[in-house]
Amino acid sequence: MAVEAKERPEAETVGSSPARRLSVTQREGLEQHFGPTDVRVDLLRLPVVGPLLDRAVRSRRFQFSAILPNQIVFWLVIVTGLVGAALPTRNFATVITWYVWFCVVFLLMVGVGRGWCVMCPFGGAGEWVQRLSFWQRHPISIGLHRKWPESWSRYGMLPSVGVFVAMTWAEEFLNIAGPGRPLFTGLMVIFIISFAVGTFLVFDRRTFCRYVCPLTALIGTVGSTGMVAGLRTRDREMCLRCPTKDCMRGSEKGYPCPWYEWPGSATSNNMCGLCTECIKNCPYDNVGIFVQSPLNSVIAPVRRRLDIAVAVLIFFGLVIFQQVNALGFYMPLDNRLNQITHFFGYPNPIAYVGVIALVSLLGVGYVWILRAVFARRDAQTAAGGRSGVSTWLAPLAYGLIPLMGVDYLARQLPKFWLDSPKLIAAISDPFGFGWNLFGTAHLGIAGAQILTPEGVVISQVVLVALGTAGAVYATFRIVRRDLAPLTRHPRSLGLVTAAAWLLSGAGVAALYVAMGAAT
Ligand code: SF4
Ligand code: SF4
Ligand code: SF4
Repeated sequence: MAVEAKERPEAETVGSSPARRLSVTQREGLEQHFGPTDVRVDLLRLPVVGPLLDRAVRSRRFQFSAILPNQIVFWLVIVTGLVGAALPTRNFATVITWYVWFCVVFLLMVGVGRGWCVMCPFGGAGEWVQRLSFWQRHPISIGLHRKWPESWSRYGMLPSVGVFVAMTWAEEFLNIAGPGRPLFTGLMVIFIISFAVGTFLVFDRRTFCRYVCPLTALIGTVGSTGMVAGLRTRDREMCLRCPTKDCMRGSEKGYPCPWYEWPGSATSNNMCGLCTECIKNCPYDNVGIFVQSPLNSVIAPVRRRLDIAVAVLIFFGLVIFQQVNALGFYMPLDNRLNQITHFFGYPNPIAYVGVIALVSLLGVGYVWILRAVFARRDAQTAAGGRSGVSTWLAPLAYGLIPLMGVDYLARQLPKFWLDSPKLIAAISDPFGFGWNLFGTAHLGIAGAQILTPEGVVISQVVLVALGTAGAVYATFRIVRRDLAPLTRHPRSLGLVTAAAWLLSGAGVAALYVAMGAAT
């Protein structure tokens, strides 16, 4: 049901220039939050599709309808993984999860932002249980309703980074995504759903999604390359005067923002789960779904987050490890390290953490050198303090996001190009028992490869080249705006940083060539 636009808040309707009537504090807020990242194209105001989309997102069933198909698929993954045949290339659980799903999630991250979060069955399951409702606005929610402690929230996304790093190591150790035994894939999905539901029952709203989910930091960082700006307000000055703030507080039409966001102050798409509750809630019809140019949420944010910068370096280290460990020389090295450290299995945790730490420290070290060379001695930050390494690290690490993001996507491509057609057979024989439910189990196309191994490598190199170009472009823009006041040589700083990203991109591409489409 369409929400009727109420009369605008009083200050909005008086006088010719609302901005001029703001108090000094409000004006500062306006500049800080709204100026540079204003987005212009509102999907809900497009001709023809706009009204249809508008109607869809105002429906309380919107997110439920997006989640339900994935919920069904993931419960099928659990069942087929647990009781199906131990045939990773034929069992539905392994085929859909590792040949298709993981690649699609990364594609959504790079292209859209938090597109996956709209339809995610893990957050969906937790929210359904917490709200005791699939879609209706239920006045009561269950659980302990704990708040994420203030002292923990200062670490931002880093708990999620830790969970992702730990789970990726466990996945490599058990060879889950290899893919290995379908049983492990089924157990992994059970673990994530239980982890999500348990956290939803302890903490309020989508605390799990904001801080803990193993994917949230990766989606939040890589997703900033995407073209969906998130849900933003059409008239941001109106939000400053809005007496109700129903988008944050909730109303009888919708839940308070589950991600603890305020659309009126969003300067990036990092933390908007696109759930559309704020559209349903806003009494002034002031929320739209905006698209933006690619990389906008990398370049434009006025508030750079150090946790995101650290996450970028750690994620880059992790994906580099995943490339290096696919090379022939790595296994003997890992075995040798196991002998020395008396560890069993692969990968050796010291090597795993070591590579991640090495790449991260190289990044920090490089920024330290840049600051030592380029910083103006008399430079001060906007807050009036000296510009420390973190002041430089945050913007420069944001510039690396496009390369890091495409590196993750490129790493998924071999499985997708070479093995995703196997899903055609797995649909007819999900348990690998020899069934032929829909007559597709023995189709020749199910054994085909979309690209040859050479084609896979070319697609990876092209993708990395695009990501590198994006990183170089973003870095120049970021340096020009964020670091220009701190150096007398912004152009040289941009050039030197861009050269480092070019070198990194060339290294990443060379690794893909050396891997030869290894999955
Ligand atoms: S943050 Fe994680 S659990 Fe939440 S919706 Fe996104 S992927 Fe799903
Ligand atoms: S988006 Fe929120 S703050 Fe802005 S006008 Fe609507 S309810 Fe008020
Ligand atoms: S309520 Fe609005 S701002 Fe909050 S997560 Fe949902 S769509 Fe994003």
